[in-house]
Amino acid sequence: MIEITDVRKSYGNKHAVNGLSFEVKEGEILGFLGPNGAGKSTTLNIITGYLSADSGVVKIDGTDILTDPIKAKKDIGFLPEIPPLYLEMTVLEYLNFVYDLKGCKLPRKQHLKEICEVVKIWDVGNRLIKNLSKGYRQRVGIAQALIGNPKVLIFDEPTIGLDPRQIIEIRNLIKMLGREHTIILSTHILPEVQAVCDRIVVINKGEIVANEKTEDLINAVEGSRKLVAKIVGPEDEVLKAIRGLGGVKTADVIGKRDTDSISYMIESQDRVDIRKPLFYMLASKGWALIGLEGMELSLEDIFMRLVGKEKGKEDKKVKKGVK
Ligand code: ADP
Repeated sequence: MIEITDVRKSYGNKHAVNGLSFEVKEGEILGFLGPNGAGKSTTLNIITGYLSADSGVVKIDGTDILTDPIKAKKDIGFLPEIPPLYLEMTVLEYLNFVYDLKGCKLPRKQHLKEICEVVKIWDVGNRLIKNLSKGYRQRVGIAQALIGNPKVLIFDEPTIGLDPRQIIEIRNLIKMLGREHTIILSTHILPEVQAVCDRIVVINKGEIVANEKTEDLINAVEGSRKLVAKIVGPEDEVLKAIRGLGGVKTADVIGKRDTDSISYMIESQDRVDIRKPLFYMLASKGWALIGLEGMELSLEDIFMRLVGKEKGKEDKKVKKGVK
């Protein structure tokens, strides 16, 4: 649905995007990640036709954004990091305005009403945008991207500045939209990527450093995993049984917080997920698993492992650069 081939863009002698190629398949939600200054915004602006590349090709559903920009742009809905809202307009005035701007041909009233219902802003349709909360404004931003029912949606940092409840709502909305649209989601929040994206492209200094399924990428950079399991059962027997499980590297007791359960730290061998075999083994013995937690990897860890081949100063720059 989106094909990017050898796209390059320089500002003066600075290569912002340096030969990027990747594809986003129909119905896929792609996470687009990279430290600050990696070239994400430049790439998104080139994909959406706001900026022209020095060389390379961007095709949206087979249409070249350079040779047939009107057709290609009709297939794209874009939510920039700062949505282009007019604060003095009501929500419906603004959506009607965008409808005209896009030259949308779908039945106006019905189309706008459907969008407002999907993003849940119908009840604030007559409110001035300046009086809306940040979460609602973001929904209006998503609504304008949906006008014309584009096949492709591009979201740049859609949850930045929102409170935790709003973040979850917007993520769920993006997931739901992913059923009908192909989506590129640029974000620096790892749980967001894990929760929403099928695949991740990571860029650094204008070049791709990873392009993999979300699970594979997380597993690859994670290597061995550590889990903390809280189990009710006889300590020595439980420990022996866990150590005997295939894929377990080490297991140790780390605490006995209440009277009947014991916490164990379990380290698995590289890329082995032992959660299911652990659960079934404990169940077969009649021992209760009352808690299981993984040690979370941060986005910084992932960047450091992917990009951290350049040592010393460069590592520090990358770590600092993560927004
Ligand atoms: P990101 O969105 O990943 O933070 P950008 O695409 O904004 O990265 O920027 C990539 C690189 O290009 C950065 O080094 C940035 O300083 C540079 N850059 C971006 N826009 C301009 C511009 N208009 N003029 C000069 N340099 C720019």
